[in-house]
Amino acid sequence: MRKIALVTGGSKGIGRAIVKSLLNEKYIVIDASRSRVDLNNQDFYFIKTDVAIERDIDNLFSFINEKFGRLDVLINNAGFGKFAPFNESKLSDFDDMFAVNVRGLYMCTKKALNFMLEQKSGFIANIASIAGKTSIEQASIYCATKHAVMGLTKSLFLEVRKSGIRVVAICPGSVDTNFFDQPGTTLHSDRNTLLAPQDVADAVIYALKSPERCLVNEIELRPLNPVKKS
Ligand code: NAP
Repeated sequence: MRKIALVTGGSKGIGRAIVKSLLNEKYIVIDASRSRVDLNNQDFYFIKTDVAIERDIDNLFSFINEKFGRLDVLINNAGFGKFAPFNESKLSDFDDMFAVNVRGLYMCTKKALNFMLEQKSGFIANIASIAGKTSIEQASIYCATKHAVMGLTKSLFLEVRKSGIRVVAICPGSVDTNFFDQPGTTLHSDRNTLLAPQDVADAVIYALKSPERCLVNEIELRPLNPVKKS
């Protein structure tokens, strides 16, 4: 039976690399993003989704249920950061970051678990960040969202391991993606010294392909030698 994978935010960056890697592994892959970026592959599906909108997530999972009736892999990747000194930060940015990075991830995970608990198998990778394990000056809200993702991931892992479901936190340092093109997002290192999106995709595939008895529950990746911009 063909296995079904859902990647949120698969239109670019890390998510796009994960989509391509899962297609290489012969999964049927659904990209849930706001912008359509087609791929010439008959196993690729795009469902326009804003993960901050509950109705979009309902539509996404109705499609999965009607078309496939199962879900084997969920990659919660959609996310963004807006950086600012704490006392200049905006409540609207706080709400928007939590709506996508945490609330959207929560809603997708709950829906995915409906399939996975029934199947007694599944794999969920949450693209957290080094920012979920440490502190970054002028990125307090983004860090708070990623710490929330880590807390959710680690607690969920304890709950569902006995149901045959593997939950993994992926914690990259800086990756060369569109993330740093967002207004208000600052990058202090030269882009060509960062991780590549494919490095993160390779980590996800490593965790996915480990034997089912083995749970890789966290992977931290860092650029080896990020060079500060002069
Ligand atoms: P990116 O190139 O900007 O890609 C972000 C992806 O998320 C896009 O596909 C975007 O698609 C999607 N997205 C954003 N808001 C969304 C929404 N409301 N609903 C659905 N999709 C949404 O950034 P990236 O670096 O690949 O980021 C991917 C994840 O990695 C994020 O969770 C980020 O926090 C995390 N991360 C990034 C880095 C880094 O240094 N780049 C490091 C650690 C962790 P649309 O615009 O088409 O919706």
